[in-house]
Amino acid sequence: MKSPIIHTRAEVFILKPEHPLGYPFPVLKFPRFYARKDKDNVFICKAHLTMDLNNPQHAGLWNPDDLPMTGGTDPYFWDFLTEELLKHYPRLLDSSVANDWVGYRAEPRDYMPVLGPSPIKDYVLAIGAGGNGVIEGPTIGRDLARYVMTGETSYFIERLPLARFDDPSKLEKVHKVTW
Ligand SMILES: Cc1cc2nc3c(=O)[nH]c(=O)nc-3n(C[C@H](O)[C@H](O)[C@H](O)COP(=O)(O)OP(=O)(O)OC[C@H]3O[C@@H](n4cnc5c(N)ncnc54)[C@H](O)[C@@H]3O)c2cc1C
Repeated sequence: MKSPIIHTRAEVFILKPEHPLGYPFPVLKFPRFYARKDKDNVFICKAHLTMDLNNPQHAGLWNPDDLPMTGGTDPYFWDFLTEELLKHYPRLLDSSVANDWVGYRAEPRDYMPVLGPSPIKDYVLAIGAGGNGVIEGPTIGRDLARYVMTGETSYFIERLPLARFDDPSKLEKVHKVTW
């Protein structure tokens, strides 16, 4: 079976403002990036729902052996971020980069996790939480634990099975991927 999971890149920059901000930095959510406080610095990460999945800099299938060991980001991301900050938060451009790294988000094509039974007997899935796994983790853990212990399927296990990818026209929201 073809995996419905796509790898997407989550670039992170830790910005050290030139002057102390002097106010509690809020959690910011913009369509293309989000930001929050990271000790005295600012954590900025590319948002997952606004990526172009047909752009190989955003999404693809990469050979882990070909990935750089540095964990660094591609130079294009600095341009991306500069443009976004100019538009939304120019003051943060007076910062130096304290750290940068890239993580991978495993996203199903409808950006919802895959939960419950798999084609392999007694092998249960709790995968593809993608860019929302921290938020979804407690509910997934609760529902999967109950399912494993009792066989009871929750609201989410009923709606998010692997089988939904057998007929993509039935998916509520699908990102068109041409590669
Ligand atoms: C930069 C970045 C920012 C994010 N920000 C947010 C956020 O703000 N809010 C949010 O809700 N989510 C966020 N996420 C997403 C969240 O981190 C993930 O959805 C979540 O960590 C996924 O958890 P998981 O347990 O499904 O998978 P993982 O955390 O990937 O765990 C899978 C584990 O399996 C292990 N493994 C893999 N293959 C094997 C194997 N063959 N044998 C044994 N072990 C194996 C791996 O080493 C790993 O420890 C972010 C992700 C990134 C990368």
